[in-house]
Amino acid sequence: MTYIPAHLRATVMERAGGCCEYCRVSQDYSDVRFHVEHIIATVHGGKTSELNLALSCPRCNLFKGTNIAAADPLTDEPTFLFHPRRHSWRDHFQFSGSTIEPLSPEGRATALVLRINDQERLEHRDLLLKLDSYPCHD
Ligand SMILES: [Zn+2]
Repeated sequence: MTYIPAHLRATVMERAGGCCEYCRVSQDYSDVRFHVEHIIATVHGGKTSELNLALSCPRCNLFKGTNIAAADPLTDEPTFLFHPRRHSWRDHFQFSGSTIEPLSPEGRATALVLRINDQERLEHRDLLLKLDSYPCHD
């Protein structure tokens, strides 16, 4: 794991408003601290800079790992994952209740790799939705 200076962590946390930049769950409703992650992993040449860091819940980050691409499940074409600094979430995903529906090749590849709609994740987001605590603001 690459060291990320405290000032960069603080910038990323504040910029994201405490929300996972992939599944839109809030840090406020998690008992574990969210991760500041490299969007392009350092193993692939990603830099430790504001433009390559995102706030991620542990589930999204652990499934993402060092992945930067996947086969689009619709077309089988190699596709880069959603990049929170280069892409707008709403261009690539939409909500249907607690389900996150991908709208693009990048969205589909990301939803696949991050297992964003796994049953336990849907159940967690359903509960947050009932508590009027999901999704996070933009
Ligand atoms: Zn997440």
